[in-house]
Formats: sequence, C-alpha cells, structure tokens
Amino acid sequence: MRPSLHPPFVIANWKMNGCLRDNRALLAGIKPQGFRPSSMTVVICPPFVYLPQLVQLLDGSGMVLGAQDLSDQSQGAYTGEVSAAMLADCGCSYVIVGHSERRIVYGEDDDAIRRKLSLACEAGLCPILCVGETGAQRRAGQARQAVTAQLGVLEAIAGAPCLIAYEPVWAIGAGRACAPEQVAEMHCFIRQRSASLDQKKPIVLYGGSVKPSNVKALFALAEVDGGLIGGASLQADDFLAICKAAQGRI
Ligand code: PEP
Repeated sequence: MRPSLHPPFVIANWKMNGCLRDNRALLAGIKPQGFRPSSMTVVICPPFVYLPQLVQLLDGSGMVLGAQDLSDQSQGAYTGEVSAAMLADCGCSYVIVGHSERRIVYGEDDDAIRRKLSLACEAGLCPILCVGETGAQRRAGQARQAVTAQLGVLEAIAGAPCLIAYEPVWAIGAGRACAPEQVAEMHCFIRQRSASLDQKKPIVLYGGSVKPSNVKALFALAEVDGGLIGGASLQADDFLAICKAAQGRI
C-alpha cells in the first residue's frame, strides 16, 4: 500500500516483544475506540515473523503495517536477512531505519543506513529514519553536531519521502522524556537541516519515553508531527491514550 504522509503519525515499535496470542489481545484492545485512524496515520511495527499475522489483524482497522529494520542488501546469500522487497510484498508501507538499538547494539554505521534508506525507497516503502544524540553528547553540548552527522544519510535518497524520528538515546526506555522546550528546539533544527538535504516538507516525530502522562505536552508542540512509541505501544490503554492525544491535534 502506498505510504500516507498525513500527520499526525503514531508509530508503534514493538521491538522484540509479542507472541501470536498476545498480539491478538493487544490489537483487540486498540481497535479504534475514540480515535479515527483515517484522520491520522497509525503504523504498527511488529517483529518480522508476525507481519503476516498483523496483515490480518489490521485489516479494516485503518491502521497500517511497518517493519523495524531491513537488510542493506537487495537479495541473495545473506543468511538471516529480510529485504525491502520482501517487506513490501508482505504488506508493509513503512520501515524503521537506523534505530539507536541497531546502531549501538549491532554496530550499524551510516554506510549501512544509507543503503537501507535507498533500498527502502526503491521498494516503495517510506523509511522512518531515527536520529538522536547520546547523553554524553548532550552534556558536552554536541547534540546538534551528532544529529547533523546522522542526517547526512538523507543525501542518499535525493528528496524521496522519509519520516524523521528525533529519539534522544538517553530518553529511550528511560521513563523520562526530553523536555518539550528541548524537543521543540531540536525539531526546528532538524527541519532546517532536512530541508537543506532536499526533504521538501520534513515530517519530524519525537520518540523516547512517550506515555499518557507526557504525550499531551509533547503533541501540543507545533514542531512535533507525531511520535515513535516503544514501551507504551505494548499496553493497549496507553497506546490508545497516545492515539487520542494525536487526534486532539487535528
Ligand atoms: C524507541 O525505542 O523507539 C522508543 C521510543 O522507546 P520508548 O518509547 O520505550 O522509550
């Protein structure tokens, strides 16, 4: 399905969580109650093996499917890898690229991220490029510098549609989100840099410990086009509250 570029976005990153039974229960809990998926873009990114299950569970819900990663190669003898074309074939419209857990835990570098972005776009997927500084970089006053370097990979896709998720590494899974003023400041900066790298109308999402108690303050910011949600996307009530907060912006 052709990816929508219609904000606000709420993107669920389930990471390595779930099983057939729990996925069914979670989806039953978030089947649109109190929000209209057609007026926003809600994307669920389960582990690869559950993509076919999610195609069925999401059918008719107005929510769409994404993946958490893709191979930096297009096809062939790459044991364990999943290509962009396979994701599109399985019904994905979006794919997360360069998540900090891939960068830090699996040593993914900017060259691999460039290849992944290009392959995603060639397959008709909309990449969700994650950028964000570490705590040490922020303390050293190098947050903008770190994010600028990460955004450089956008050159590889020459203006093709791409969502950008600002995810300060120190806020991911920490239980404490980045302060709204810092988010607004960094999103303005990312918008300017992305525009200079041919992104015509940059779409910038925030990720890092978004939850029902802080989502209204974050989504109230004009600079925020939605969120990439980790932990809170695994709890139906929390995820619903976040979708409703996004709906409140329309
Ligand atoms: C993430 O890992 O992309 C994320 C935003 O996680 P959490 O919401 O759990 O901080």
